[in-house]
Amino acid sequence: MISVPVNEPVIPAEARQYVLEALESGWVSSAGKFIQEFEEAFARYLGVKHAITATSGTAALHLSLSALGIGPGDEVIVPDFTMIASAYAVLYTGASPVFVDCDPETFTLDVSQLEAKITPLTKAIMPVHIYGHAADMDPILALARERKLSVVEDAAEAHGAEYKGRLCGTMGTVNAFSFYGNKIITTGEGGMVTTDDDAIAERVRSLKDLAHSPAKRFVHESIGFNYRMTNLQAALGLGQMKHIGEFLRKKQWMAQRYFDGLQDIAGLRLPVTKSWAKNVYWMYAVLVEDSFGMTRDAFRAELKTRGIDTRDFFTSCAAQPAIRALTPAPFGSAQGLRQSLRQGPFPVTEDIAERGLYLPSGLALTEEQIAAVIAAVHSIAHG
Ligand SMILES: *Cc1c(COP(=O)(O)O)cnc(C)c1O
Repeated sequence: MISVPVNEPVIPAEARQYVLEALESGWVSSAGKFIQEFEEAFARYLGVKHAITATSGTAALHLSLSALGIGPGDEVIVPDFTMIASAYAVLYTGASPVFVDCDPETFTLDVSQLEAKITPLTKAIMPVHIYGHAADMDPILALARERKLSVVEDAAEAHGAEYKGRLCGTMGTVNAFSFYGNKIITTGEGGMVTTDDDAIAERVRSLKDLAHSPAKRFVHESIGFNYRMTNLQAALGLGQMKHIGEFLRKKQWMAQRYFDGLQDIAGLRLPVTKSWAKNVYWMYAVLVEDSFGMTRDAFRAELKTRGIDTRDFFTSCAAQPAIRALTPAPFGSAQGLRQSLRQGPFPVTEDIAERGLYLPSGLALTEEQIAAVIAAVHSIAHG
C-alpha cells in the first residue's frame, strides 16, 4: 500500500553542499558567512531593508513584539484561529492576547470584527496568513494607522504569498517567518524577523543576542534572549532560498491537481482564494460539510487506513486549557486577560476546528502520491 506523509520537505543538492561547507569551515555556531548570506537573500527576495535570523518562528514573533516595546498591561489583537505560538509570543512579553474570530472563507482574521476589539490598552494587531492565504491587510493597515497601532504579520505559513501584489511579511511594522520542517522554506528549526525600520531592526539584533550594550560587551541595559540561529541552519536556509520559485510552483501544481481531482466531491469544501490573494497553499486545507455524510474524524480515519496521513485544523486559542488557566495571569495584566477571555465565543473558529483537515501538502509530494490521495477520497466519498 502507498504511504503518503502529510508533509515531507525537499532538501536540494545546493543546501546539502552549503551545510557541508559550513561544517568543514568549523563555523558551526551563530557566527559564519551563511547567517549574513541567508539574511541578505531573504531580504532581497522580499524587498525589505532588514531580515534577521532567529531560532524559530515563535522566537521571531517574540522578538518582533519585544522590539516594539510591548509588555505587561498591553493588549495585542490576535486571530483566535491560529497556531498557538502567535498567542504565546504575546504572553511571553507579559501582554494579553485579545482574540478575534476568523473569516469563514479564508480562515484569516475577520476584519469586520477588528475595530470592536480595540481598547486604550491595544498596542498592536497580529494578522496571521493562514495556510498560505493572506489576511485582508488593507483594512487592518488603515485601522492601525488611524489608531496608531503597530502591525506584526505572522507570515510563518506564507513564504511567497501575496496580498494585492505585495508579499506577505513586508506590510507590517515588523513581521515574522518560521522555518520549521514543514514550512515552505525550512532550516530544520528557525525563524526570521523582517522590517524596513532601522531602529526596530537594531533592537531585534540586540535582543536576540543577549542585549549586550553597544558601548561595552558584557554590560546589559535590558533583558535579552539567546535566539541566535546557527550557521548550519542558515546554510540549509540559503540553499533552500535558491529554490523558492520552484517550491512555490510545486505548491501551485499541488493545488491545481487537488482542485481538478476533488472539485466534484459533494460536501468537501476546497480552499477559497480571494481575487486579491496569491495563495501559496502551505497546506491544502479542506472542510468536511454535513452533506459529505461522514464526520471529519471518520474521514481522516478512513484516509489513514488507506495509508494517507492528514492533520486536523488548529483549534480556538481562547479555548485552550493553557490560555484559560491564565486567569489570573502569572504574567502581565490579569485584568486584560480576563477581558480577552470574555470576548468569545468564536463560532467560526469553533466550527472549522471540528470540520477542517489538511491533505498531504509537502514539497516532496509525487504525482503517484497525489493521485492516490484523490483516488482514496473518491472511494471514501462514493463508498
Ligand atoms: C509554525 C508557526 C509558528 C511558529 O513557528 P515555529 O518555527 O514552529 O516556532 C507561528 N505561527 C504560525 C501561524 C505557524 O504556522
